Amino acid sequence: MERDEALAIVKPKLKQERYDHTVRVMETAIQLAQTYGVDEKKAEIAAIFHDYAKYRPIDEMRRWIQTTYLPKDLLHYHHELWHGPVGAKLVEREVGIHDREILDSIHYHTTGRSHMSALDKVIFLADYIEPGRKFPGLSDVRDAAWMDLNHGCWMAAKNTIQFLMSKNQPIYPETFNAYNALTKANK
Ligand code: GDP
Ligand code: FE
Ligand code: FE
Ligand code: FE
Repeated sequence: MERDEALAIVKPKLKQERYDHTVRVMETAIQLAQTYGVDEKKAEIAAIFHDYAKYRPIDEMRRWIQTTYLPKDLLHYHHELWHGPVGAKLVEREVGIHDREILDSIHYHTTGRSHMSALDKVIFLADYIEPGRKFPGLSDVRDAAWMDLNHGCWMAAKNTIQFLMSKNQPIYPETFNAYNALTKANK
């Protein structure tokens, strides 16, 4: 699928600010893909669709989790975590993208997972460091991102966990799995 066609599909699904974020994630993901020898075309398409389900009604997302092969434990965690897994399903069914690597990177873009693929890492990190983001500690993650893909992802996962813990928020197990796996990958 061409970039313009993909962007035209996603645009009506998003608010303007989220669409602008999506374009910045796309540009960042392509640069990371070039840096680390990842398929640029897959990075482009995965980035364009990564937040496809962001504005689906909570009840609709809950139904998709209940009625398809998605992890049921998601239902016990914040609905903010649902748009990745549900997005992967909807991009497959509504857009007709069947590439498993692309769909997985959309699925896991918020939490990460153990054994992240290089494409997973590119999308996870691009979403975290795109130039419109403002998180505590972000400039260090941005520096690391262009030096070492694993280390950049590890720092992003660590920051997210620290942020959530500082807010007394529950943390989804895959978020810890990603952090742990990336910790080992650092060594
Ligand atoms: P966005 O869709 O581009 O805004 O970004 P993400 O999909 O990466 O993140 C959505 C939100 O989920 C962010 O506010 C993260 O802090 C939050 N988040 C990430 N991991 C977890 C987790 O394990 N538990 C909870 N409760 N929130 C998380
Ligand atoms: Fe997201
Ligand atoms: Fe993210
Ligand atoms: Fe995003």
